[in-house]
Amino acid sequence: MTEQEFRAAYPLIFGWIQKTLTQFASAARPVSSLGFRRLPGYYGDGILNNAKVVVVPMVPVPPLSAMGLDRFADFERMSTAGITYLDTFFVVADQARDESLHFHELVHVIQWRVLGPERFLWLYADGLERFGYRNSPLEVVAYDLQDRFDAGGEPFEVQAEVRRRLSAMK
Ligand SMILES: [Zn+2]
Repeated sequence: MTEQEFRAAYPLIFGWIQKTLTQFASAARPVSSLGFRRLPGYYGDGILNNAKVVVVPMVPVPPLSAMGLDRFADFERMSTAGITYLDTFFVVADQARDESLHFHELVHVIQWRVLGPERFLWLYADGLERFGYRNSPLEVVAYDLQDRFDAGGEPFEVQAEVRRRLSAMK
């Protein structure tokens, strides 16, 4: 994807995200309200109180093909357990109690915040196109840190770790 193609698509994607977040605003709850036990060891109160979660039957994905981005059709069709837009993430109902999934999506919340929406979407789309979903750089960070969480070792400050990995990426 060229930068020009991205610039043309960005307002459409961002507009769709804003519309979607507005549509689900009344169903969004702070992550802190779910009472997960381990997340506070990894994320500060600021993040857990400000990040929001919406439980849905299927996570909403932008209609990328309809926006002229046919090359992302596989991603559009892929049904994931969670997806994050800005400070809000969506999880499917049957995994709504999965603390590890929430941990993963919170990594993306931090990535959105640190990078800003335009840079996040550019890096995500570019990574998806060049490496595929699982090996795209922003997902690699989220999965690596999630593996550490799942392994159950000593808690670490995720925000600092994400910042470190993002600055190494540039
Ligand atoms: Zn992810």
